[in-house]
Amino acid sequence: MKYNENQLQLLLADSRYQDIGALPSQFKAYDWKQMFIRPFGIKEFKLVSKAAALKDMTHMIRAIDLVITQDAGTLTIGDFYYIMMWLRIHSIPKTPVVVNWECGERVLVHKQTNVVVPNEEPYELPEDLSLYREEPCGTHNTEAVYKSEIEIISLDEEGEENFAKQVLPEGFDFPRAKHIEGLGKALADPERVMLTAAAQWVMGDTVVDKFKRMEDASDEEGMAMLDTGTALNELLQHGLKEVVQIKCRRCMKAEPYHINLTPTSFFP
Ligand SMILES: [Zn+2]
Repeated sequence: MKYNENQLQLLLADSRYQDIGALPSQFKAYDWKQMFIRPFGIKEFKLVSKAAALKDMTHMIRAIDLVITQDAGTLTIGDFYYIMMWLRIHSIPKTPVVVNWECGERVLVHKQTNVVVPNEEPYELPEDLSLYREEPCGTHNTEAVYKSEIEIISLDEEGEENFAKQVLPEGFDFPRAKHIEGLGKALADPERVMLTAAAQWVMGDTVVDKFKRMEDASDEEGMAMLDTGTALNELLQHGLKEVVQIKCRRCMKAEPYHINLTPTSFFP
């Protein structure tokens, strides 16, 4: 426990704190079931600035640790990014996350009226194509992403059968926030990049430990770890689905857009 009962009571006298409710992991990775959080203040924003400037998530973890009642380093990576989004939304509510993109579709435009045939499903091709010219849409779109549009992937809350399937086998653990930096390094290593998705599930204090355990095992055991890790990565995926549907304001073409939430996202 990060705080004892008395310390927690003192902390919660600060009315900015609130119960965050369910986390995407459904608390399956922890021995606690409740977490309080408050929005960032300037002190934390200085750490977020440092994380953005140095491209080092360690400082983001430190900032988050200052505003939650549990240990930020041990959060699952899925929960960590969910909390980061919560903080982005609640700390600077007047400036939503904005995405900018240029439409890459082609459009049919009526030669006389300049009316665009909408690129919507079902697509209706005009009868007399000679009245239209084809051109790239090229519209520059700016769209704010609202909380309701961000999809959360949660582990199953209930359902005995699913729950049984979502218990970790011995020797494996959820990848945690404290591993984010190490995972970044592994992903930049050609010999490890393709193994990282599986290896992150092997038990270990650091990402180096995780890989070492897999590499030091016999060939057969190592391959079994790789196989199990790959399966867990599919089964226990949770957190933010960082893809939202965006729509071109001119031609109505809808497409998925990947929101890349980083410390820089806190400085619009
Ligand atoms: Zn368009």
